[in-house]
Amino acid sequence: MNYSVTYKDVEAAAVRLKDKAIKTPVFTSRTANELTKAQFYFKCENYQHVGAFKFRGAFNAIACLTAEQRRAGVITYSSGNHAQAIAYASKLHNSRALIIMPKDAPEIKMAATKGYGAEIYLYDRYTEDREIIAQQLSKEHGLTLIPPYDHPDVIAGQGTAAKELIEEVGALDYLFVPLGGGGLLSGSLLAAKYLLPNIKVFGVEPEAGNDGQQSLRKGEIIHITAPKTIADGAATTHLGQHTFPIIQNLVDDILTVSDQELVSMMPFFAERMKMIVEPTGCLAAAAAMKNNVPIEGKKIGVILSGGNVDLKQFAKWVG
Ligand SMILES: *Cc1c(COP(=O)(O)O)cnc(C)c1O
Repeated sequence: MNYSVTYKDVEAAAVRLKDKAIKTPVFTSRTANELTKAQFYFKCENYQHVGAFKFRGAFNAIACLTAEQRRAGVITYSSGNHAQAIAYASKLHNSRALIIMPKDAPEIKMAATKGYGAEIYLYDRYTEDREIIAQQLSKEHGLTLIPPYDHPDVIAGQGTAAKELIEEVGALDYLFVPLGGGGLLSGSLLAAKYLLPNIKVFGVEPEAGNDGQQSLRKGEIIHITAPKTIADGAATTHLGQHTFPIIQNLVDDILTVSDQELVSMMPFFAERMKMIVEPTGCLAAAAAMKNNVPIEGKKIGVILSGGNVDLKQFAKWVG
C-alpha cells in the first residue's frame, strides 16, 4: 500500500525529536498483571512535554516547515492537548501560534495554552466548523495550518511513542492505542507493524464517538455529530484522509469503552501507580483490562496518551 506517511518518516521524526521530546517511562503494574493474567507495559505519555503525546507530532510538523513559514507562524484548532503542543513547540521554534479552541474546552487546557504564549480564538463546537474558521484565519494572517491529526508530519511524530515502547520492551503481542482522529493510531501502526510484523494493534474510542469503528466496518470515513463524552481528546467527528487508509489497512480492530469504564480507570492509576491519567488517556487501558479481547498470557503494550485534567473534576472522579 502507498500511504502519505511511512515508517521511514517515523524514523526521521525520531531523529528530530531526540533530546527535544521526553523519552517517557514505561511502567509495569503487578496489580494489572494479576487482575488480567497478562503482562502490561504502560507507555506514559502523560509525562511528555505539555502532558500528552501531541508534543511529538506538533514539534515534528513545525520542524519540517521552511524557515520562512516558521517565521510567519502557525495556526491550529484543538480541544486542548494539540493546542498546548503547538503552543509550546512553536515557542521552542520562536514561531507565532494562533489556536482555535472550543468555548467549552477544559479551563486547565486554555490556561496552559495561553501560558505558552499562544493567541487564542474561541468558537462554539456545536454550531461552528473549526476547519473553516482555521482556513479563513490562516489566509488572513499568512499562518501555516497544522491540524491535530490529519497531517503526514503530525502522524510521523506521533508514531515515535510506539517506536520507543517497542524498542524498550521488545516483542509485544498486542498494542492498545487511544483513537480520536487517528494521528496517534496511524503513527503507532506504522511503527508497530514495521518493527513487529506479527503484533496485533487495537484502536480504542469512546462509545459515544465510535465513528472510527463505523468507518472501519463500512470501509469509508463516517462523519458523526460532536459526541458528548468525558474523553474530550477523542471527541472527534471523523477520521482523516491521511489517517484512515493507514488504519483501514493495518489495524486489527477498533474497540469502544464507556465513560463509566474510563472513570473507573482513574482511581486505579492514581492509587496503584501514583499517576494522573486524563479520561482520554485511559481509553486503551480500559479496553485492554475490561473488554472482551482475550489477553491472558499475552504481552500487552498500552499507550497512556495524556494526563491533563481539571483537578477538581479529577478529585470527584477518584473520590
Ligand atoms: C489527541 C488525543 C488523543 C487522540 O489522538 P488522535 O491522534 O486524534 O487519534 C488521545 N489521547 C489524548 C490524551 C489526546 O490528547
